[in-house]
Amino acid sequence: MRIIKTRFAPSPTGLLHFGNVRTALFNALLARKERGTFLLRIEDTDQERSRAEYTRALEEDLRWLGLPWAEGPHAGGEGGPYFQSERQAVYERYLGQLEGAGHVYPCFCSPVELEISRKVQAASGRPPRYSGKCAHLKPEEVERKRAQGLPFTYRYRMPRGEKVEFEDLVRGRQTYATDDIGDFIVRRSDGTFAFFFVNALDDALMGVTHVLRGEDHLANTPRQIALLSALNLTVPVYGHISLIVDGHGAPLSKRSGSLSVQELRELGYFPSAVNNYLARLGHAYAQTELLDFDHLAAGFDLSSLGRAPGRYDRAQLDHWQAQAVLRADLDALCEWLAPALSEDVPTAHLRQFADAIRDNVLFPQDARLWAQAVFAERLPLSSEARQVLEETSPEFFRHAAQALTRELDFAVLAQQVKSATGLKGKALFLPLRAALTGQVSGPELPRLLPLIGFERAHHRLSEHLLSTQID
Ligand code: GLU
Repeated sequence: MRIIKTRFAPSPTGLLHFGNVRTALFNALLARKERGTFLLRIEDTDQERSRAEYTRALEEDLRWLGLPWAEGPHAGGEGGPYFQSERQAVYERYLGQLEGAGHVYPCFCSPVELEISRKVQAASGRPPRYSGKCAHLKPEEVERKRAQGLPFTYRYRMPRGEKVEFEDLVRGRQTYATDDIGDFIVRRSDGTFAFFFVNALDDALMGVTHVLRGEDHLANTPRQIALLSALNLTVPVYGHISLIVDGHGAPLSKRSGSLSVQELRELGYFPSAVNNYLARLGHAYAQTELLDFDHLAAGFDLSSLGRAPGRYDRAQLDHWQAQAVLRADLDALCEWLAPALSEDVPTAHLRQFADAIRDNVLFPQDARLWAQAVFAERLPLSSEARQVLEETSPEFFRHAAQALTRELDFAVLAQQVKSATGLKGKALFLPLRAALTGQVSGPELPRLLPLIGFERAHHRLSEHLLSTQID
């Protein structure tokens, strides 16, 4: 049995967003499911746009999401270095091998010449293919041009009249005619290598067996397979996953609500919420409950990857966030809430408070409202609560204040007010909630009342009694 190795190969030219982080997640899930290895490779060949701080940020994001790589930067492994910027010598070596076998040739065509040729082809309705002008230069001609110092690229000599075929894990059998591809550039005139070459070569040299990546890379795959085959290297299995689109079907962008992992973290999303959301975007799970990473991995199935684009939906993400808040262990919940609460919540009550309000918060900031509703000396009232209070008789509050005991048992309090006033249901609970918390909905009162405490609760009920009397 082949040991599976998957990889994430980001270019550190920006922060990780939903799209690329989902690719990382799918690869990590596949590796975990198959007890294989998940590898991280940094594709930092674009010197202009690659930044060390983006590499640091993406490593931090992957760690935060709980997607650690067993091979790659900081983790080591036999296939390193794992930064493409450190692999130039490897690429030169394999280019030399291709050249020695006649699979690549130097091309001296200038950008202007190539542009003209493209225009001519376009004018006659043909797709742009390299004309093959330099494909058969004689060795003396090549020598002469090089001696003149003419800049040149290396092109891969695509066989004519053949087909490149492969079985895509998501999209099934794919067939490309080599004639439609033409001879493509492997190394540019400035010495930098084309994406196809270094990406495919590194996958093969690092022993990657499965590549799950965005479908925008589908058209690169036949070139990559051709190159690896020419080098007698093992071709990985490819699966091109559908892209993520916004509500209008357009590619997800900053404007349509795409968030970076860093932003998600800063907003207070739990990693498990992000993972559960993304794992279900373009991949169907039978289970509808929040799953931890191992269970997400166990349920991950290549045959459940959809071809239709995944539609980004913030409400769904928030659904998983609510689940994550509900399931968080109490220590984690307190740690998550604490920075947003400052001194509003007495430390001794933090655990009880956090547990009582978890059904009513999506983000740490949301807890501020409940911290006030419980602990504020001067209780702010929502307009709905004010209205409820205005419509309730002072009698009601007199009974309530009298019925309140130091046991702070809300069921007993409600029962007493009910017998004294004859009110029940909403008419009973809404004024109690409004007076005690300043809100008309929220966490369960039996859990809040002990936190509000006798003095404050009594004050809140009687204060309202007085103000209604004065009115
Ligand atoms: N560096 C490429 C990217 O971020 C990798 C593509 C691939 O996964 O093969 O798009």
